Amino acid sequence: MLGKMIGKVALERTLGKFLEDDSHLVLGFEEKGKEVGHRIFKNDLKGFTLVNPFFSANGALYLRRLFSKGAEIILMLRPCEIRAYHELVKLNQIEAEKIVAVSIDCAGASSLKDPGKPRTACQSCREKRGVIGDAGIRFDAKGVPWLLPYTEKGEEFTRLIEGEAEEIPPFPDKEERGTEKFSTNMEAFSEELAHCIMCRNCKAMCPVCYCIDCVFNGDEYLPKGDALLNKVFRSGSLEMPQGKELFHMIRMFHVSQVCVGCGACEEACPQGIPLTKYFKGVSERLQSMFSYMSGRSLEEEIPYLSFQEDELKDAED
Ligand code: SF4
Ligand code: SF4
Ligand code: SF4
Repeated sequence: MLGKMIGKVALERTLGKFLEDDSHLVLGFEEKGKEVGHRIFKNDLKGFTLVNPFFSANGALYLRRLFSKGAEIILMLRPCEIRAYHELVKLNQIEAEKIVAVSIDCAGASSLKDPGKPRTACQSCREKRGVIGDAGIRFDAKGVPWLLPYTEKGEEFTRLIEGEAEEIPPFPDKEERGTEKFSTNMEAFSEELAHCIMCRNCKAMCPVCYCIDCVFNGDEYLPKGDALLNKVFRSGSLEMPQGKELFHMIRMFHVSQVCVGCGACEEACPQGIPLTKYFKGVSERLQSMFSYMSGRSLEEEIPYLSFQEDELKDAED
């Protein structure tokens, strides 16, 4: 396979040229002193960096319901972010025609709440390699970055970078990780959720939990005020906040085929509830039943969107 060794200067020169057009944007990482976070770069690349040692949010979250507006965008993000972007494209939440998605080899990240400590999601990450999207940036054994094209858009982007394409070297990580073995029970799940305050930050920050008309927006599942009193008069005294388990079970049911195991839900939880192991654990088990890995490619269909009647015959009884 051919790729290009890319120096920081050459990459930044190419992206800088791309940004000269007012309708062009780059979503990537910005370094500001000791802080690194997401930025949508317009016109200039000040502070741009390929590496972000911290995880705050999954960058695909910012792309939800993006239907172009004429903008051309280059994404320079981590594999779990490009995977979530792929799922949103498949769910018709992003118009991908003018987007070039580049995944960058990721060494894992630590939480802003606990700098220096690897996150659960990163420790068991299925795909840390820049092998997702239109192109990938991979670091060779000496730490030199290479740009590898995977699609026509990726080829086009690679051609913009100065220098000749050459045979790529071997890269340290060669394979994706298998599915985590995961088992739990409702007792453990309920115990962990005992501290949940139902702020719903986990839902708000999950990149693939995208419904605008969420079932939890109204009074049906999480009643308040008069609706809550009606429920109390109908069914007796209620523990507050109401519906914790139901909320998480329904959310899990909704996202489990597309969850990318990024841990953004856990990151957003003010109560320190270890959500990743449940959402990632259940999702990876479910996806493996369909030989599916969320976000691995744009071509692989989400199982529930391509359900065949004769599938899962054993489940009929
Ligand atoms: S979940 Fe994987 S891709 Fe995402 S930040 Fe952690 S190691 Fe990187
Ligand atoms: S459920 Fe959690 S781990 Fe899964 S995609 Fe959403 S934020 Fe990421
Ligand atoms: S973010 Fe934490 S406290 Fe808030 S609803 Fe989710 S699990 Fe509960």
